[in-house]
Amino acid sequence: MARYTGPVCKLCRREGGKLFLKGERCYTDKCSFDRRPYPSGQHGQRRAKVTEYGLRLREKQKVRRIYGVMERQFRRTFAEAERMRGVTGENLLSLLERRLDNVVFRLGFATTRAEARQTVRHGHVAVNGRKVSIPSFLVEPGDEISIRERSRGMARVAAAIEFAERRGIPEWLSLDRERLVGKVASMPNREEITLPIREQLVVEFYSR
Ligand code: SF4
Repeated sequence: MARYTGPVCKLCRREGGKLFLKGERCYTDKCSFDRRPYPSGQHGQRRAKVTEYGLRLREKQKVRRIYGVMERQFRRTFAEAERMRGVTGENLLSLLERRLDNVVFRLGFATTRAEARQTVRHGHVAVNGRKVSIPSFLVEPGDEISIRERSRGMARVAAAIEFAERRGIPEWLSLDRERLVGKVASMPNREEITLPIREQLVVEFYSR
């Protein structure tokens, strides 16, 4: 499955905001964006005129990069959001939030979504007691997400949980820290997704 493997701080600088793709480092003074808040490269500091199209494109790219989804899959997710009842932009964010790799990250079993994706791919995660190794798997209210028995000793998970407690777990999820089991309490609603995203621009981008 395709995924972005290049330098991630460059993406924050390109999108003009912190996307928090590097875990703890993003909260320290080593953050590249804090030191150089402009796109990388020779022309990065030039003030380019942003067109209406460019504005929408950048917002779409930002959302895609936050969740670590490639274009084709993102477009498919958008098509699904359009088919659902309700507001397309909110449906899109709800679908992205309910991805298993995102939930593993939100519960604190990994420090970044990229790490969470790898944790899922490597078979360390179970949903309702059964191994699931598909990062795009969509969780439903009532589902229990856990780190599998044989993977519980992983130092990476313990460190990630500690970091997540400082970061906070969203209200639509709950975590039993001792058992390393998380539960989906409800569907994520827009207010609980605190990322700086203007999803309407993404909808407008695809509705051109
Ligand atoms: Fe972005 Fe800063 Fe984190 Fe790098 S360290 S991914 S620039 S927020």
